[in-house]
Amino acid sequence: MVDFPLSLPSLDPGWVWLTGAGPGDPGLLTLLALRGLSQADVVVYDALVGSEILDLARPGAVLEYAGKRGGKPSAKQPDISRRLVQLSREGKRVLRLKGGDPFVFGRGGEEALSLVEAGVPFRVVPGISAGIGGLAYAGIPVTHRDVNSAVTFITGHDTNGTVPDSVDWTALARGSPVLVLYMALKHIEAIAERLIAAGRRRDEPVAVVCRATLPEQRVLETTLGACAADVVASGLEPPALVVVGEVVRLRTALDWLGALDGRVLFPDPLGSRSRGETG
Ligand code: SAH
Repeated sequence: MVDFPLSLPSLDPGWVWLTGAGPGDPGLLTLLALRGLSQADVVVYDALVGSEILDLARPGAVLEYAGKRGGKPSAKQPDISRRLVQLSREGKRVLRLKGGDPFVFGRGGEEALSLVEAGVPFRVVPGISAGIGGLAYAGIPVTHRDVNSAVTFITGHDTNGTVPDSVDWTALARGSPVLVLYMALKHIEAIAERLIAAGRRRDEPVAVVCRATLPEQRVLETTLGACAADVVASGLEPPALVVVGEVVRLRTALDWLGALDGRVLFPDPLGSRSRGETG
């Protein structure tokens, strides 16, 4: 059990804490997430939550898996919501632990709505979303003053598993200088084609960041025109983020994790671009 120097709320019996576990590195848990882990009777967790984080649960806490495993279909969302309600009614202290932030492409909103409907008391504990914190571990800031004053977070597949038609790819290609795509590896070819058709440059930098913040983190630096083939050639697998935009260039200066392994960092990654002489 961790001694808390702060007066943090307690996870009380009958309550559900809908909690983000961050992108993977246990060091990126919030104090409230750690507090929840140290007090929960039951931790209902998703596939993206790693064992190092689950090891922080109170000894005796029941760990319940609510994701996909061994090719079996994932637990259905209504089943998960029902289970949370049931555990709460049994008077359990329930930590619902999800990868990244629970409200970012995590269906946390749906679970929270079910809790409201059932009258279950709950707290939302935000987490560091992979699209921000994961990219930071790859040395890529999602905004940089000389590059972009807007960034868009997009899901690369919809509920049917196809490229989302609800996304106006043309408008995004024109209006958003930096695009951060979750769940996009499978459809990277189709997405890159749509962006290029809408006017994005083939040589625009792209990074694919797999298992961000974990010891197995891998980063592929490529371009919009080459990313689909490069992903296949690299054998990279989900979970991965795809980031499109000039901010990727900053990695040559800001790959702080690579520098720990001896990578030499170059302080002027944008060159003339940072002085407004874009070509
Ligand atoms: N709620 C989560 C996102 C869940 S959707 C969050 O806020 O981060 C699942 C997708 O998130 C994955 O397909 C992948 O695109 C991304 N993701 C989550 N963790 C990741 C990690 N450690 N490395 C790379 N991508 C990750």
